[in-house]
Amino acid sequence: MKSDAAVRDQVLSRVDELAPQLVALSHAIHADPELAYEEHRAMARCAEPLEAAGFAVERGAYGVPTAFAARAGTGGPHLVVCSEYDALPVVGHACGHNIIAASGVGTGLALLPVLEQVGLRLTVLGTPAEEVGGGKVDLIDAGALAGVDAAMMMHPAPYDDIDGAGLAIEEWSVVVHGMASHASSEPQLGRNALDGLVAGYTAIAMLRQHLRPWQQVHGIITHGGDAANIVPERTAATYYLRALDMTDLADLRSRVRAALEGAATATGTTVDIERVGHVYEPITTNVGLAKTFTAACELIGRPYTPDPKGKSPGGSTDFGNISQLVPGLHANLAVHSWPAVNHQHEFAAHCVSPLGDRTLLDSVKAMALTALELAADPALLTRTA
Ligand SMILES: [Zn+2]
Ligand SMILES: [Zn+2]
Repeated sequence: MKSDAAVRDQVLSRVDELAPQLVALSHAIHADPELAYEEHRAMARCAEPLEAAGFAVERGAYGVPTAFAARAGTGGPHLVVCSEYDALPVVGHACGHNIIAASGVGTGLALLPVLEQVGLRLTVLGTPAEEVGGGKVDLIDAGALAGVDAAMMMHPAPYDDIDGAGLAIEEWSVVVHGMASHASSEPQLGRNALDGLVAGYTAIAMLRQHLRPWQQVHGIITHGGDAANIVPERTAATYYLRALDMTDLADLRSRVRAALEGAATATGTTVDIERVGHVYEPITTNVGLAKTFTAACELIGRPYTPDPKGKSPGGSTDFGNISQLVPGLHANLAVHSWPAVNHQHEFAAHCVSPLGDRTLLDSVKAMALTALELAADPALLTRTA
């Protein structure tokens, strides 16, 4: 490592001092889940300690009410560390964004005293709406990544996967329109919007056998009709379409659309398809950041625990879009939860367990050390091996 050993020790000691505060922050966000774009209390919980420590904090940054930007440092490369804090319906913080939130805050607090000394500009970016919507794309569109040299975040997972790829994704709102009628006395006058929706769902299920690897479609019916004695005139569903890259996503888009439109034709109904939120792109991991982060994990003595089943590109994140713009690292770090996985109730419990707290503190140390290395050796961003 090219960074100064004394500065590294100073920063690691600071993380140990901050540990009770960071764990408390993580647990407080976990206990108070807020959905995408509604994370007002989580945003405030993150922004307050950064401001108190001396960061210039902008709440509602880039026109997104639950985003924030905490900025410090005047020279050297400009690094963004992302804090996510949105939760899921029903299962709460079952993706562990409470840990992500606290890890970004912790990295900022640990580095602040040495930023001028080492020459680093740091922005802790509060990024709402990862689970749905794509808040990071709002921030990108408003200029949050302009002039940024690198971006980094961690994500809790069952196993370690420091350079995970992730899938491109887009969300569809699907509405089928039919014609209401008496379901018993005059059914021939009706056109059944539930039939249109179910036929489409079934056609997509048949399509799956013939999709390319990692082209995925999953959906739920959100409205199935209003009464059993009325032929349904309006039904609705939500689908997610995922693929390894934007070419495969475009291919999937046309095939799923054909399945839904064919089902509508067959049932005498019509279908409206609208994309919801932003398209998420796959992650491109910067080799230098990944190697540096891995070395940092070794330096702090964190054992590497990969998935024994091998690497999987499954899942998606709007950090993918950031990683297409600037050198990026999205490090999935084990909370050692297997067989509990993200989006399960059991995983939510692991994200406030002693091992989950350990992962939080390890991630702060590893990100802070990676940041110090970036300051000492900006050329690491150009590494290819
Ligand atoms: Zn997540
Ligand atoms: Zn998630």
